[in-house]
Amino acid sequence: MYTLKMAKRVLLETNKRLLWKLVWNMGVKGTRSVLKHKSRMKKGQFFPPFLYVSIINSCNLRCQGCWVDVAHKQQTIDVPAMNKLITEAKAAGNVFFGIVGGEPFMHPEIFEILEGHPDCYFQVFTNGQFITPEKAQRLFRMGNVTPLISVEGNEIISDQRRGRDGVFNKTLEGIQNCLDANVMTGVCTSLAKSNIDHLLTEQWVDRLIEMGVLYTWFHIYRPMGPDATPELCLSPEEQRRARQFVVDMRAKKPIVIVDAYYDGEGQALCPAANGISHHINPWGDIEPCPIVQFSKESIHSSEDDQRTLFEKFTQSEYLRDFREVAQETTRGCIVLERPELLQQVVEKHSAKDSTARGTAMQELQAMNPRTSQYHPGDEIPEKNLYYRLAKKFLFNDFGVYNGHDHSKTAAPYIVKESVNTGTVTLPQVSTGCGSGESACCSEPDVVTLNVDAPVIEDSQL
Ligand code: SF4
Repeated sequence: MYTLKMAKRVLLETNKRLLWKLVWNMGVKGTRSVLKHKSRMKKGQFFPPFLYVSIINSCNLRCQGCWVDVAHKQQTIDVPAMNKLITEAKAAGNVFFGIVGGEPFMHPEIFEILEGHPDCYFQVFTNGQFITPEKAQRLFRMGNVTPLISVEGNEIISDQRRGRDGVFNKTLEGIQNCLDANVMTGVCTSLAKSNIDHLLTEQWVDRLIEMGVLYTWFHIYRPMGPDATPELCLSPEEQRRARQFVVDMRAKKPIVIVDAYYDGEGQALCPAANGISHHINPWGDIEPCPIVQFSKESIHSSEDDQRTLFEKFTQSEYLRDFREVAQETTRGCIVLERPELLQQVVEKHSAKDSTARGTAMQELQAMNPRTSQYHPGDEIPEKNLYYRLAKKFLFNDFGVYNGHDHSKTAAPYIVKESVNTGTVTLPQVSTGCGSGESACCSEPDVVTLNVDAPVIEDSQL
């Protein structure tokens, strides 16, 4: 039944030129880029097939918990720099680029960037408020761009979460403009305490389908940055509820539901740890992911560094150590679960704070371990065969967790211990020696930290 309904939607509701672009650019060539990543990994080379690029820091909204320096002086990646980046990534087989911000549609040359690469596929993470009917038409003409428009709650919640009045209606207008222009459109939500009951519902998914939205993506709110707002975080129980909902809806609703944190068996993973994606900020700094705002390399060339993009990624000791520490520690999010280990990696490499505010280290130091997407023993496998197969071949941990025992290093254990005993000894993993030689790294620089119990609520268990 699901197959029929989904096929009917795809055949009847999409423009065939756009559908072809999606199938060819994203489906066929995107698959090839993941296969190339897998074969590079066998040689120990990590060049992410999915690059997420924040092309601008500015935004018209002031969302709770945003970690981007949206109020600072505007910084953009300009057209020549983006062309160079995309061209070099294409040489490694990449075709997909996530365009992030700030608000990407505030970039004065976003269309020049996108129009320069008809052989790629772009997903633009946007609040939708700048997408006029004319801009939607321009997106349609390109055919290889999908806006992923964020909705953070109903009218009241959305306006509160996003720091302005009228946000919800203006965002819906942007969605409608895209749908009217026949653009392949997605809607995403960062699930938080304030919106889970409104948006993690069948009614909301049905409404999206009725509107003509083709795919949706439920992120989990992560407390990061200068305004971390941890009270918005979902409890582990709510996170499991979100995962179960996604799995259930995938099996019965004719809408694609994206997620980035689980394989087909429901095992957690981190897309930065398996190297499938890394992030570039508006200053051109290369970061492991958008919430890890520390960097050693830049996409921009300098007198000291004339290396290609591929060389910068594959030779980065900082990125390699980040991935290895994450792989050794948890299948979940190293940043949330073990912020002090991330701090050690950053300090070891003297990675620079890549924010404009310059307080990323203090923010990291202020974090307490908390659970993330990793809930061992509670895995929820995919019910839908298509997702299961797609993940089996194209989206999984690619073996990076093999041989690692996370039972004493990941947050579920740490948090439980701290609640039960009042104090916790944080087990260390090797932060690597920086040489890349496995023999050298076989002697982990173990430093046992005894810390007072972080303030952890029972609700995190
Ligand atoms: S480090 Fe955390 S936020 Fe970053 S990609 Fe991994 S799981 Fe996601």
